[in-house]
Amino acid sequence: MIKVTLPDGSVKEMAQGVTPMDVAKNISEGLARNVISASYNGTTIETTTTLTTDGTLILFTWNDVAGKKAFWHSTSHVMAQALEELYPGIKLTLGPAIDNGFYYDVDFGDQKITDADFKKIEDRVLEISREKHEFKMRSVSKAEALNVYKNNEYKTELISNLEDGTITFCDHANFFDLCRGGHIPNTGIIKAMKILSVAGAYWRGDEKNKQLTRVYGISFPKQKDLTDYLELLEEAKRRDHRKLGKELDLFHFSQKVGQGLPLWLPKGAALRDRLEQFLKKAQKKAGYEQVVTPHIGMKDLYVTSGHYAKYGADSFQPIHTPAEGEEFLLKPMNCPHHCEIYNARPWSYKDLPKRYAEFGTVYRYEQSGELHGLTRVRGFTQDDAHIFCTPDQLDAEFKNVIDLVLYVFGSLGFENFTAQVSVRDLDNPDKYIGSVENWEKAENAIISAAKDKGLNYVIEAGEAAFYGPKLDFMVKDALGRSWQLGTIQVDYNLPERFELSYKGADDKLHRPVMIHRAPFGSMERFIAILLEHTAGNFPIWLMPEQAIILSLSEKYENYAKKVLDLLENHEIRALIDNRNETIGKKIREAEMKKYPFMLIVGEEEEKNGTISVRQRGQEGKGNISVTIEEFAAIINEEINKTLKQF
Ligand SMILES: [Zn+2]
Ligand SMILES: [Zn+2]
Repeated sequence: MIKVTLPDGSVKEMAQGVTPMDVAKNISEGLARNVISASYNGTTIETTTTLTTDGTLILFTWNDVAGKKAFWHSTSHVMAQALEELYPGIKLTLGPAIDNGFYYDVDFGDQKITDADFKKIEDRVLEISREKHEFKMRSVSKAEALNVYKNNEYKTELISNLEDGTITFCDHANFFDLCRGGHIPNTGIIKAMKILSVAGAYWRGDEKNKQLTRVYGISFPKQKDLTDYLELLEEAKRRDHRKLGKELDLFHFSQKVGQGLPLWLPKGAALRDRLEQFLKKAQKKAGYEQVVTPHIGMKDLYVTSGHYAKYGADSFQPIHTPAEGEEFLLKPMNCPHHCEIYNARPWSYKDLPKRYAEFGTVYRYEQSGELHGLTRVRGFTQDDAHIFCTPDQLDAEFKNVIDLVLYVFGSLGFENFTAQVSVRDLDNPDKYIGSVENWEKAENAIISAAKDKGLNYVIEAGEAAFYGPKLDFMVKDALGRSWQLGTIQVDYNLPERFELSYKGADDKLHRPVMIHRAPFGSMERFIAILLEHTAGNFPIWLMPEQAIILSLSEKYENYAKKVLDLLENHEIRALIDNRNETIGKKIREAEMKKYPFMLIVGEEEEKNGTISVRQRGQEGKGNISVTIEEFAAIINEEINKTLKQF
């Protein structure tokens, strides 16, 4: 008999040689029907693998990430089979599961695969799937494996790096593939499959190697899941921030300026400015002070901070002054500069905490292939701040920062978020700097603040940085995609390195604790996420222009200007479209530019001193005729729905 421990802690005594599927059946027939993959003592296994020792078993279904991965990886085997049949002589390489689906890298030789071929491959995959072939693992000697793949230099390379006795093949139908394992029970549960795209990919990601064809696919246990997924993909394309950024005139990339360096157009700059003002106002209330630091710093500054040792070789290389031989680096982080601001004078414990905030622009080298719109750039502005406090103040400071982060999320319409508290790995105390007492204080402060503020959080042991524990926020956008946003991080390292101190009540010098925090993360990334979350329909308080005045003809230009003046008196941001175009065309364009309110003015309105208001996306409702005062009340009510007082 062996002891099989389940995730809920219960232990089952089972006969030696049972399989995960047997255990599932022992629990319930319903579970057995849904189990598609398993892990034993942390290793992925087949549902048919026999268990011979005591251990911890996890059974996965489609609803688990590991279940999906097994499902997708298994489909990659079926797709490989279909490809081999349809393109004889191709060389298969690797076919792993990824976050959304799977791919297979294939050397097609002289043959070509195009979009037009996708359908026939998908049809063949589903045909094979319906035949309900079991996936079976088989051990193979190194010599045999090398012989089988003697015409495939890629598999030969993979096998050469494996040890004899550890090599396995996976069989299904009349197809086999070199594979470590981790499959669903049989092909029959693959009910829907789609090839998403093909792209070039170098063998093992090295551009010196041959370029292969990467075939991306995805599969599901239900046709409806595939339909939903494809709809989501379409919607994500419509919401792509790079596309919206162009349509809304927010930002631009110029090859002349350099890749990964966004240029903010007037409307985008206004949007950024509004976000900055919003955060600055709340930060002022929360006791932050604004500081400004230069875009470069002496190389020595980053040697002191430790950033140079860690990232120096992979960043922008030092800038040399012409005569003095000084070396400067483009600022990759604001923290070292803020440490030196703290060091500008001595402090007493009565002065703390000090909270220095800066919209600090930093530069980090990213490979050109890694750059992506505003989410991966080479120059970006962090909504950065550093808090210097005593260990006893950590608790209150954490609560203060969480309040600010929640205020930011609430005002911008992110309602669905979770938090992760990263703490030490208690088995590896040597990994961390700072005293055990301080770590305990900091971890307890974070957890009690998270609890106190009602956050939905998980604690991850061993995920803390060597210099301190942290709290990260993950938001889910309107399409259900997860993004990491704000982070709050305790740091015992930089105060040491910069020899920061304050005089305590005991008249002795002590080290302050430092907190790094950025609710947005960076302006660039945040605006990208906000664009995709809202599809460009920002909360009204944030819109660069909240209303557009559409004149029925040029005759009403003066009245339109008068309306604009009155709106400005009410601090409503608006502009006039006085072009000699039909009102229908003006409305269509205003809708596309996402102005929340369209204010139509013509003869009637001029006579009565009113405007005819049309709200974006509410075509059916008809326009309402109101005075400017009434409109100001409407717009303020809309603003107050999202933007609360901090
Ligand atoms: Zn496999
Ligand atoms: Zn920092």
